[in-house]
Amino acid sequence: MSELEGKRVFVTGSGAGIGKAIATLFTQRGARVVVSDINADAAKQTADEIGAAGVANCDVTDEAQVQAAVQQAVDLLGGLDVLVNNAGIEVSSPLLQQSTESFDKIYAVNVRGPFVAMKAAIGHLIESKGNVVNISSIAGIGGSPLLGSYCATKAALIQMTRVAAVEMRPTGVRVNAVCPGFADTAMVDRLVPDFEAATQVPFGDLVAMKQGRLGTPEDIAEVAAFLASDRASWVTGSHYVLDGGLTASLV
Ligand code: NAP
Repeated sequence: MSELEGKRVFVTGSGAGIGKAIATLFTQRGARVVVSDINADAAKQTADEIGAAGVANCDVTDEAQVQAAVQQAVDLLGGLDVLVNNAGIEVSSPLLQQSTESFDKIYAVNVRGPFVAMKAAIGHLIESKGNVVNISSIAGIGGSPLLGSYCATKAALIQMTRVAAVEMRPTGVRVNAVCPGFADTAMVDRLVPDFEAATQVPFGDLVAMKQGRLGTPEDIAEVAAFLASDRASWVTGSHYVLDGGLTASLV
């Protein structure tokens, strides 16, 4: 039997990048996936490509939209086993030069988004003894110049993962996080020019030196699939680092 046979899954931000890879791999492993994104065209294209169970779009900063999308997914799937909080944005700025409005925006997407999605989904997840996979980042573990607010949001997501896992343990619901290093998506493409300007090192050299190679969205989807599956039945409150050894190295 496939690893995720019959699992009913809702993935935010799954029109592109890592979320799309998660929706794709989960479908290949037997899950029924509802795709969701702020970009309706991208979500439809992903859903068509992978043969998803449906589309239920939301902007994760809008709680009413998130509640409606989760309900739509539950209606399409007949319940919910897995919530993947993947939607996230980056801001490239020295921390104390970032505007407060921009700080509020990244917090609203990267922290408040997963928070309201977990609240919307939890009743359904308790019913199915399901689980949550939160896509955090190694930026939640170590600091990085230019990514101050992003680092803060991803650390907050790890902490929410831990607390939700402990509080939900008696219900049978598991909550875990994945912390990727630099992966090959549009998000990293957007960061490259600022990183090269700040470090004076070609980004390819930095990646080769620190993590061997860029991660692929599929690298991350593999670990998300494991965490979402029954094989991970004793794994909760964890954050899995996938970074080619970047955070393991002092030099
Ligand atoms: P991406 O390529 O930018 O894709 C993110 C997707 O989420 C896009 O389709 C985007 O739509 C959508 N989205 C943005 N804001 C949204 C919102 N408010 N509500 C719903 N959907 C929204 O990013 P990615 O690299 O795949 O990143 C996915 C997740 O992995 C993020 O949480 C990110 O922080 C995390 N991560 C990424 C890396 C990396 O190296 N790429 C490393 C560690 C962690 P638009 O394109 O229309 O904005």
